[in-house]
Amino acid sequence: MIPYSRQSISKQDIRAVQQVLRLDWLTQGPNVFAFEKALARYCRVPYAVAVSSGTAALHLAYLAAGLKKGDEVITTPNTFVATSNMLLAVGAEPVFCDIRLETYNLDETKLENLITRRTKAIVPVHFAGQPCEMDAILKIAKKHKLIVVEDACHALGASYRGNKIGSLSSDMTVFSFHAVKAITTGEGGAVITNNRQYYKRLLLLRSHGIYKNLQGKNVMTVLGYNYRLTDIQAALGLSQLKKLDWFIAKRRRVAEWYREELKDIEEIILPTPHEGSGSACHLYVIRVRNPKLRDRLWAYLQKRGIGANLHYPAVYSHPYYRKIGYRNLRLPNEEIYQHSCLTLPCHPTLKRNQVEYVCGAVKNFIKNYDL
Ligand SMILES: *Cc1c(COP(=O)(O)O)cnc(C)c1O
Repeated sequence: MIPYSRQSISKQDIRAVQQVLRLDWLTQGPNVFAFEKALARYCRVPYAVAVSSGTAALHLAYLAAGLKKGDEVITTPNTFVATSNMLLAVGAEPVFCDIRLETYNLDETKLENLITRRTKAIVPVHFAGQPCEMDAILKIAKKHKLIVVEDACHALGASYRGNKIGSLSSDMTVFSFHAVKAITTGEGGAVITNNRQYYKRLLLLRSHGIYKNLQGKNVMTVLGYNYRLTDIQAALGLSQLKKLDWFIAKRRRVAEWYREELKDIEEIILPTPHEGSGSACHLYVIRVRNPKLRDRLWAYLQKRGIGANLHYPAVYSHPYYRKIGYRNLRLPNEEIYQHSCLTLPCHPTLKRNQVEYVCGAVKNFIKNYDL
């Protein structure tokens, strides 16, 4: 099976993890702090807080931002459910904005219409590693005094108009280090920020809401969690981070190979390379012009050992969301997208001949589907 994504672990990664196992610290310790420092430097921000998953990172960012019951938060339906699940977890109400069919990101021109007196924040998701139109989004946020939390779980290492994702003027930016993401710690995540107040709140919330007072006593002041990353994972993260730019370069090359192989196929819509931003190429998503064929192509590829996948069914179309109040929501572009998208394998260790094999299967299907 050629998976749609997978980790790439080197001998150095293994050595880095083995070293930690011989030392005194297994839980949060020197490697976590070093990993945070390296991540902050990479993203050109002062503060990074490493946590146990991207989902935990979203939860803490929303809590640190003060989101709570009664608040509306505008986000995209084209994301992993965790983006809006954690909004529900803090009691906030996700408001889904339709997407653009050029980038599959939320359509910033439709944002302002969704703002009400209860709107508190915007959560843009850089889908597939392609940055959202952040200039427009940040301008709208400033005008209406809204918090911006970027879900950059696909976009570590991506850039927007020459600036690294995470270094823009948003309040906080969230990453995931799950095995399929740009770099991995097994499970893991981080929140990065320019703001010292958020930073201090995140540290407190990560560790039960407890801090040591001047007398050296542990005092709990807010309801926190145990969302800490282990030093074992952080050592892997530090080692992986050194290869991040190389990983992204390889992913971009895979995307170019797909473009070369598939660009002349009428029935397939390829992702549009976007001016002014550098995608992290986290996912390679094609669209099938005739949506009736999408599921058949998906099954056809699966049968040939190709781990094609669907990213994503609209968040609002999951049974849980239908049940809690999104029963009739159908956003026009999102509907077109979710029934025509198909993710082809894309990761740093994918070989040219594997890409050719995948494209050969796609072409064969297109040539023969009506027979
Ligand atoms: C992976 C992902 C998450 C969740 O990250 P985990 O580390 O798996 O908890 C959240 N949002 C998006 C867009 C993701 O791709």
